[in-house]
Amino acid sequence: MSFEPLKLRADFPALGRVFDDGRRLVYLDNAATTQKPRDVLKATRRYYEESAGNVHRAVHRLAAEATGLYEEARQKIAAFIGAPSPKQIVFTHGATEGINLVAHGWARKFLNAGDELLVTEMEHHSNLIPWQQAARAKGATLRLVPVLADGTLDREAFRRLLTPRVKLLAVTHASNVLGTINPIAELIREAHAAGARVLVDGAQSVPHLPLNVAALDADFLVFSGHKMLGPTGIGVLYAKPELLDAMDPLLTGGEMISRVWDDHATWAEPPQKFEAGTPHIAGAIGLGAAVDYLAKLGHDALRQHELALTAYALEKLGAVPDLKIFGRAPERLGVVSFALEGVHPHDVAQFLDRDGLAIRAGHMCAQPLLRRLGVPAVSRASFYLYNDRDDVDRLAAALLAVRKFFHAT
Ligand SMILES: *Cc1c(COP(=O)(O)O)cnc(C)c1O
Repeated sequence: MSFEPLKLRADFPALGRVFDDGRRLVYLDNAATTQKPRDVLKATRRYYEESAGNVHRAVHRLAAEATGLYEEARQKIAAFIGAPSPKQIVFTHGATEGINLVAHGWARKFLNAGDELLVTEMEHHSNLIPWQQAARAKGATLRLVPVLADGTLDREAFRRLLTPRVKLLAVTHASNVLGTINPIAELIREAHAAGARVLVDGAQSVPHLPLNVAALDADFLVFSGHKMLGPTGIGVLYAKPELLDAMDPLLTGGEMISRVWDDHATWAEPPQKFEAGTPHIAGAIGLGAAVDYLAKLGHDALRQHELALTAYALEKLGAVPDLKIFGRAPERLGVVSFALEGVHPHDVAQFLDRDGLAIRAGHMCAQPLLRRLGVPAVSRASFYLYNDRDDVDRLAAALLAVRKFFHAT
């Protein structure tokens, strides 16, 4: 299927925005959150307008419809990532909650003093701080696999650090700063051979790459709906059944129980065991619609589009004088972080915003990585299915204008 970003853009109401000065919005902050297509907005709206019952509780029609839509979304998501069963899909608030759920329910339960946790220097804070906390609570040691100058993982150091003491490798599939796609299948294989479990942070990969969680043999996978066309406040934890059985819930209360007595209770089977209280029903339904949209488009076609656009962007940005691009991994996402010499990344982003371009500036929730890169902040452009060469041209032209402005004054 040929890929037509311009046609796809018409599915996204927000991308039709034109600012007061007549400039159209160029949205290049997709690694932070994506825009939402009409299908997703319609699905969430239809739930609120027609089927707004609670799930798994009442017998009336609205509750039955809500439960049906909610569980149907779970099935769609399971199919989308190749999970053997929808029972392995736990709805969370997002990737961050999924990681915390594993850090509390699994790591704090099963780690012993002297055990080790392995993460990498390119982790998002969400896949670092919960492990810092778990390690501290259990007397375990947290170690970071270094990142090489080209933005790839130091595989030799990884093998050295992967001792039998390591109980868990928590690693991002793809970096939200460098765009690096890690060789996740190999990392999982090596970690398993060393006796460690693996949590994959799929916040940047599930929206962009073909992924089959069963083929990868990942023990845990987390991701967020809002970075893949879905609503905010909804995400997924996937885990192997025996892990979900063994783990403790993070939240307790209604909806997650089997039987309740005055002084104790038993838990429902997974995934309900981990979904205490009324869940984000509309969010789950919206995420189901987002998955439908992406599946219809095809992950392979999306990947080809993003590869071509990223190559074009690297070429165009490479021609901007005094612009440094961070990360040169051969396998990468449509995420490009950069710094314009002599101009603060925030000023770059602010200048571009006046031109209608939305990019991100700051520490990208990856302060340890930025420390290794030797900078306090970067600017970042990140692409998705609705971006095209015209967007990249606008970005390159705006950066040239920023440079001229700051170097002239
Ligand atoms: C965005 C992101 C997260 C956190 O996702 P939330 O939706 O904020 O929970 C975690 N890891 C990576 C790599 C991310 O890009």
